Amino acid sequence: MIMSHKLKIRSKLSKIDLKFINQANEIKNLSLAEDKKVGAIIANHKNGEILAIGYNKMFDDLGFQNCEDETGQSLPYVIHAEESAVIEFLKKDISNIDLSELTLYCSYSACINCAKLIQHAGIKRFLFTENYHKFKKGKHSPYEFLMKMNVEVIEYNINLLSKNNSEYLGIVEYNSKHKSYSIWKAMLQRCYNESFLKIRPSYIGCSVVDEWHNFQIFAKWYEDNYIEGFVLDKDILFKNNKIYGPDTCCFVPSQINQLFTKTNKLRGELPIGVCFNGNNYLARLKKFGKQINLGTYKTIQEAFDVYKIQKEIYIKEVAEIWKDKIPNNVYQALMNYNVEITD
Ligand SMILES: [Zn+2]
Repeated sequence: MIMSHKLKIRSKLSKIDLKFINQANEIKNLSLAEDKKVGAIIANHKNGEILAIGYNKMFDDLGFQNCEDETGQSLPYVIHAEESAVIEFLKKDISNIDLSELTLYCSYSACINCAKLIQHAGIKRFLFTENYHKFKKGKHSPYEFLMKMNVEVIEYNINLLSKNNSEYLGIVEYNSKHKSYSIWKAMLQRCYNESFLKIRPSYIGCSVVDEWHNFQIFAKWYEDNYIEGFVLDKDILFKNNKIYGPDTCCFVPSQINQLFTKTNKLRGELPIGVCFNGNNYLARLKKFGKQINLGTYKTIQEAFDVYKIQKEIYIKEVAEIWKDKIPNNVYQALMNYNVEITD
């Protein structure tokens, strides 16, 4: 199975990650570039061993002091910080190194060439601080590439929180007029508002991950993942999931979201898709807005089994309709969805 990572945005890091990303930020001062200085460090995030450092390099002798032209484009003769670190790293004897424990820490997000190099060197984790606009956008973006190649990508967003993690630093990028604000408020309400939980007890036990209590972080995730017209969903990727967070949530069209809405109250003791019909049991499926009668059966189990088969076919049908518009992991989750009698 191909694992695909989602970009993780963190305002807090483990001690070891924080140490190395701070070092990458210091290393960048070795660069002679006048405009953009970038520092990188390859280290073992388990045992703390440093394997290589790098920074962007010019060719002074040739009279080049800038790494970007007037339009902000990186000049072709520049050696990027990640390149310089990876080259240094590969000069070592790495035969006994567990590559899965290595992280490339960089004071800036990677370009596509550096992303390829990081992946090709076998490094499985990339942690960066400053984001440039092309990193995440587009089908062939460095981030898309790293994600597909199973490299974990973490953005450390130091602008979000101050050192004591309580006050915002600098400009607050998203305010309550942002389109994600009502979604964020509703999500918190579903988890923590007692009067809401009385009306919708199915949300009892649900929670929001710590970082999403910070609206700035949620809004940024929303910007990166929102698909026009889609709604927030927490239990398609992971069935019965009760935690809202960047690793569990996705945006889906409401037609998909509605596939899984349940009316526990109305159906009483009977399993999903089954209702009484005299002394027998009727299997019913709501399909494209219409209730479809799937026949009457002697036992609850028989009725449910018929419902299960038809419902799973219907879920796949809807998944096919949206295939080109939804993320692949959502499509895969729908194709593999298992309807259970306990649903
Ligand atoms: Zn690069």
